[in-house]
Amino acid sequence: MPSIFSKIIAKEIPADILHEDDVCLAFRDINPKAPVHFLVIPKKEIESLADVSEEDEAILGRCMVVASKVADAEGLEAGYRMVANTREEGGQEVPHLHFHILGGRPMNWPPG
Ligand code: AMP
Repeated sequence: MPSIFSKIIAKEIPADILHEDDVCLAFRDINPKAPVHFLVIPKKEIESLADVSEEDEAILGRCMVVASKVADAEGLEAGYRMVANTREEGGQEVPHLHFHILGGRPMNWPPG
C-alpha cells in the first residue's frame, strides 16, 4: 500500500536525503526526537518488520549497512539507537517499513 514514504522515494515530495541506492533510502526525520534523527527505508513497499519474508534478507541487510554508514557520516561514533516501530502496539504511524536512527544524546531504557 503506497504511503507518504513512497512519495519520497518517487521524489513527489521533498526530503533531506542522506543516502540513496537501488535498494534503500536514508533521510532526516521531519520531526526529530534527537539531535540526529534519520530514517532508513527499503524502496520495496514492505508494510512493517512483521511483514518481511525470507526473500527480503538482502534488503534488510542493506538497510543495516546503510544505517551504520550514515550514522558514522553523521558523527555518531559515541553511539545511537535503531528502532523499528512495528504495527499498532509498536507505535507505527507510517505503513512502510522504516528504521529510526537516533543519536547525539544519551538514550533511556526501557523506552516508553
Ligand atoms: P513511526 O511512528 O515509526 O511510523 O514513525 C514515522 C516517522 O516518520 C515519524 O518520526 C515522522 O516524524 C516521520 N515522517 C513523517 N512524514 C515525514 C516526511 N515527509 N519526511 C520525513 N519524515 C517524516
